[in-house]
Amino acid sequence: MKLPDSLWATSATPPADTPALTGKHGADVVVIGGGFTGLSTALHLAEAGKSVMVLEAGEPGWGASGRNGGQANPGWRMLPSEITQKYGRNRGPAVLDMLNKACDVAFDLIDRHAIDCDAERPGFVHAGFGQTGKAFLDGWIREWGELGVKVERHDRASLKTLIGTDFYPFAMRDPRGGHLQPLSFARGLARTAISKGATVHGNSKVDAIHEAGAGWRVTTDGGEVEAEHVVICTNAYSDTLWPNLRKSVIPVTTFVAATKPLDTDRLATILPGRHAVAETRRALHYFKLDRDNRFVIGGRGNLTNLKEPGSTEHLKRTAREIFPALEGMEWEYGWGGQVAVTPDHTPRLFKLANNVHAALGFNGRGVAMCTMFGTQLTRAVLGEDTDMPIEPIDIVPNHAFRQLGITWHLATSGLLDRRDVADTTAALA
Ligand SMILES: Cc1cc2nc3c(=O)[nH]c(=O)nc-3n(C[C@H](O)[C@H](O)[C@H](O)COP(=O)(O)OP(=O)(O)OC[C@H]3O[C@@H](n4cnc5c(N)ncnc54)[C@H](O)[C@@H]3O)c2cc1C
Repeated sequence: MKLPDSLWATSATPPADTPALTGKHGADVVVIGGGFTGLSTALHLAEAGKSVMVLEAGEPGWGASGRNGGQANPGWRMLPSEITQKYGRNRGPAVLDMLNKACDVAFDLIDRHAIDCDAERPGFVHAGFGQTGKAFLDGWIREWGELGVKVERHDRASLKTLIGTDFYPFAMRDPRGGHLQPLSFARGLARTAISKGATVHGNSKVDAIHEAGAGWRVTTDGGEVEAEHVVICTNAYSDTLWPNLRKSVIPVTTFVAATKPLDTDRLATILPGRHAVAETRRALHYFKLDRDNRFVIGGRGNLTNLKEPGSTEHLKRTAREIFPALEGMEWEYGWGGQVAVTPDHTPRLFKLANNVHAALGFNGRGVAMCTMFGTQLTRAVLGEDTDMPIEPIDIVPNHAFRQLGITWHLATSGLLDRRDVADTTAALA
């Protein structure tokens, strides 16, 4: 399977050699899916002394990991108090601690293994409109602040200096976040996992998983592997390989567009601090600069644009609203990919059977979180305690109708977002 044309496919570091699986093999662990989650799991398991084989249908990074917006965002779209409430007094603090450290785990791993992926850590700016957006950002500043994170508050004027636009009335800057070239990161994870002893096979779509003695036999059309443990990391690209796994998330198509490199005049005003920025809007947009100073913006499709390759015209229009200086700028790339959404916007760590685990449902926040989940899956395989609860598989209720639900959500989100923008403007007038 060929990578889709994208900025990342053009500018990434070269891939490691990952030949297709042929013949019969044995391993301690077979990992299915070569995105951030599978590759981080393979790397951490190899470092723990396990023999690991990754089987990827395309090439490492072929899925969302090689197509995303490249933002390493801290946390989930939930406040610490909501997380404690969801996971309870016993589990909540461990989940919060895991969330707090997720960006560190990703950036430390990049440093430790010298992964060349244009990683920058100027912080993550979350910019908002409306009462809901303001309440969320106020809560974030207060609650993460109480947990020791030095989150800055910004208003329209200070934000203009920070990111170069007065489009948003309020925002926060969280120092934990940053951004990177995602396909280079995925390829770097693959290369590092291989250097630690893991084997990675591209063009190796797993078509079946069967019990075999005390372990499992995993087959592709070219070969098979017997392993004690199986870890499934197929996220939004999950198919019918394991019963009901694809029904545990709702795949949603989202898009990214990138300009040609900005000229010096535009660079002086657009994202001068090179921050990763995302909005609190329901139909949110997020943006950053790449290594060569291209403006890169991502967001969901709209009602008539829910399938790849789709159109990115709506993203370009929004980019010009936020930064009028982008008027006349030439756009060079546009592409799409699948995000795995769960009803409560939190990822899942499943035990599917004896020695079979899966992690998925990263809700568009996978750069740091999937890397962190590699450590969680490693602990699950090693039989150690995990921060995330390990749960039995959980199917999204009314899965067949959820795509319609997403369409409805997109329609209403746009209206509610426009009302929020108008309300905020009126309140500040
Ligand atoms: C357009 C877009 C923008 C995004 N922007 C951001 C962002 O800015 N910041 C952020 O944090 N997150 C972002 N995300 C989300 C993030 O990319 C994902 O959460 C993350 O990459 C998921 O990684 P993963 O390894 O779990 O899954 P993936 O990277 O999707 O990997 C799953 C892999 O499984 C393979 N596979 C599936 N079935 C089989 C099989 N039967 N056999 C073998 N292999 C199989 C697929 O080929 C695929 O490569 C974005 C996602 C998209 C699509």
